[in-house]
Amino acid sequence: MKAIRRFTVRTVLPESLGALGELATNLRWSWHEPTLQLFTSIDPALWERTGHDPVALLGEVSPARLEELANDHAFVGRADALLDDLHNYLSEPRWYQSLENAPTSIAYFSPEFGIAAALPQYSGGLGILAGDHLKSASDLGVPIIGVGLFYRAGYFRQGISREGWQQESYPVLDPDGLPLSVLRNPDGSAAQVALALPDDRVLHARIWQAKVGRVPLLLLDTDITANPEELRGVTDRLYGGGGEHRLLQELLLGIGGVRAVKIFTELTGSPAPEVFHTNEGHAGFQGLERISDLIGTGLSFAEALQVVRAGTVFTTHTPVPAGIDRFDRSLVERYFSTDLLPGVQVADVLALGAESYDGGSPSTFNMAVMGLRLGQRANGVSQLHGEVSRGMFGGLWPQFDAEDVPITSVTNGVHAPTWTDPAVLDLVSDRLGAWDTTSCDWRNEAITDRDLWEMKGRMRAQLVTDARRRLTASWNEQNPGAGVPAWFSDLLDPEVLTIGFARRVPTYKRLTLMLHDRERLRKLLTHPERPVQLVIAGKSHPADDEGKRLIQELVQFASEPDVRTRIVFLPNYDIGMAQLLYPGTDVWLNNPLRPLEACGTSGMKAALNGSLNLSILDGWWAEFYDGENGWAIPSADSAGDAAERDALEAESLYDLIENQVAPRFYDRGADGVPTRWVASMRHTLATLSPALSADRMVKEYVERLYVPAAQSERAVSDAGFAGGRDLAAWVTRVRAAWPAVHVAHVESGGVDTVPQVGDQLHVRAHVTLGDLSPSDVKVEVVYGRARDEDRLAEVERARLEVEGTEGDATAFAGTVRLARAGSFGYTVRVTPRHELLATPAELGLVAIA
Ligand SMILES: *Cc1c(COP(=O)(O)O)cnc(C)c1O
Repeated sequence: MKAIRRFTVRTVLPESLGALGELATNLRWSWHEPTLQLFTSIDPALWERTGHDPVALLGEVSPARLEELANDHAFVGRADALLDDLHNYLSEPRWYQSLENAPTSIAYFSPEFGIAAALPQYSGGLGILAGDHLKSASDLGVPIIGVGLFYRAGYFRQGISREGWQQESYPVLDPDGLPLSVLRNPDGSAAQVALALPDDRVLHARIWQAKVGRVPLLLLDTDITANPEELRGVTDRLYGGGGEHRLLQELLLGIGGVRAVKIFTELTGSPAPEVFHTNEGHAGFQGLERISDLIGTGLSFAEALQVVRAGTVFTTHTPVPAGIDRFDRSLVERYFSTDLLPGVQVADVLALGAESYDGGSPSTFNMAVMGLRLGQRANGVSQLHGEVSRGMFGGLWPQFDAEDVPITSVTNGVHAPTWTDPAVLDLVSDRLGAWDTTSCDWRNEAITDRDLWEMKGRMRAQLVTDARRRLTASWNEQNPGAGVPAWFSDLLDPEVLTIGFARRVPTYKRLTLMLHDRERLRKLLTHPERPVQLVIAGKSHPADDEGKRLIQELVQFASEPDVRTRIVFLPNYDIGMAQLLYPGTDVWLNNPLRPLEACGTSGMKAALNGSLNLSILDGWWAEFYDGENGWAIPSADSAGDAAERDALEAESLYDLIENQVAPRFYDRGADGVPTRWVASMRHTLATLSPALSADRMVKEYVERLYVPAAQSERAVSDAGFAGGRDLAAWVTRVRAAWPAVHVAHVESGGVDTVPQVGDQLHVRAHVTLGDLSPSDVKVEVVYGRARDEDRLAEVERARLEVEGTEGDATAFAGTVRLARAGSFGYTVRVTPRHELLATPAELGLVAIA
């Protein structure tokens, strides 16, 4: 029989164990080792069975055990001390509190958040990154409010059939059994947001609150009785349905999200955000809701747009076209031709998402494009991805060179306390008395080579045990009652060079590249002296049969008798698995099609645990590979076609494993320690741990984006939005006048017929400004090496100053020192100038000589 209704009854804890309840509901436990140990010690077997979930653990632990613990003074003392520690953590000043002029608070929107295995509200990298962002923000004291959706079934649970085919199931989550609480009004009723929909329907959502250390995370949930049946399912699962379902989710996330933040700040008295950060385009509608609010206070759309842009940061995460969120323009039109956003005209909405550039589609509404138009500051997630994004979105700033496109980059990082194995922490605390693996001195001789090697050995053995457990469970699920084959006890070997490879399975990540030459792979796996073993995991999007076929190919190869103990596919890749997988590997493999991996974070998590990377020079690895921390698989960019490229890159991969990776790993000293290998591990830990940590990333976001955005936001908002009104009026005036702006002619002097290094080139440009005044523009000489067809490379710029007017032209002049020999070229460009513009390209206006 099926229940018609379900709920979770929470345990009533004995009074002396009150601390446990509070410790369980703040997700800081998920990255605080002493608190994790406390929960484990309550009942280690149950801790495993509940998937490391304190709320579930407390719900299921036997009353007798609770009674026992309640009378155990040492345990009660430990729990109370940890609660004190949590209270200190929540209130003491941290890094952010020493900054000046920093935003009072920042709202961070993301369609998914990967915080802990116990709160499965993520599908992959985007969500894990968002979770890590919140955790580091908490550790640094950054006042962020996270905003997302609560998905009733999260993403999906992956099983693998006997034929190797991915099977999805959607276990339903019970929010009452999760570390969440409903946000309530003072009268005790649940706070709700409401969105007007076409046909006079209304979408309601309640607001769950999770505590991520100091950071509140608000999750909107439509599964409530206020909604008709078909709307209750809007937040059913992550990336579930197509067009309209997805649009509803994103309307709720963006518009409902801003409304939820407002309710939250009013109810709790915490400061309203000055900066809004949207993690990828999905949450882009947040800007429209804020525009609507401002229109309500008397601003025009154009004025409100300037105010909203000033305080908005947009992060783009993918150069893969299929990863960019697009809707039918007509669908968006229908949803905004309602009372959804009072004061906002549907034509203005449509213009923000229009692909109005070469190659764009007139019937498409593009969320990334809207994100760029609504955010004065934007970034990609590695240096290479920044560059690729400037090229990819360059059409929005025609006439500007790619390097002028206003998209910077902040390279991703990973939250070290979450992703560093306790074995690593144990070692540094034992030998160095340090509690931070990212700032300790890894070169200190108190940590010996043997220590490092034994640490890795423990983590490798732990992975082998976990892999066997998972594969046994999966076998039993597929073959009930059949009993596990004898060879399962030989699955993987804790002494063998272990290579990890785990990811979502879109085609560009090339899950099966390693299968390119099966015989060669077989030889590597079964090498008599230097064998290799591979641990692989990953989910394919449910609608992606091609991805599922790749998984199947791999699973089938991995079941061949001569290799099956050396290559395994672990079903249901998630945070819980990942936390053992990265530390257990000696080498992390990544072989995307360059440059489609925007950043990639799994290799970072491996590096924090002393694994070496073996990767295509894409994403973060293109920035951090230094010849000592791993290996670069050469990209065969110039190959004739995709098949040839795969073949070449696969050959390089095999060559590297055979000739470099395995020999170094198996080159042992008399004491059995591979000294050369351990030197690379130590180098990796010393150099990459600080650089790859999410603390570094969040500090960069704060210093380079949030603080400047807050300054801009204040400049446009102060004194009743005077700055915003001025800026909007100025933009309108400049746009109207721009067609008359020309560089009439340019004179130069000061250089002989044979120019020499050190000469001063005098440049005078005569510019017609039409209705603009000289202070409205910036005139620059742009110079550098002249390349083919006179294209400039290694470009620099020097400002030209007003000299006077002659007729209807204004003269601007300045000098450039010729600093190096070789070809030299220059030109003059005019761009709009206003102190509230963040970059010269912002308005897309330029006049070039
Ligand atoms: C880190 C992580 C990812 C993302 O890995 P990428 O290398 O960035 O693609 C996906 N899933 C889980 C469970 C992770 O821990």
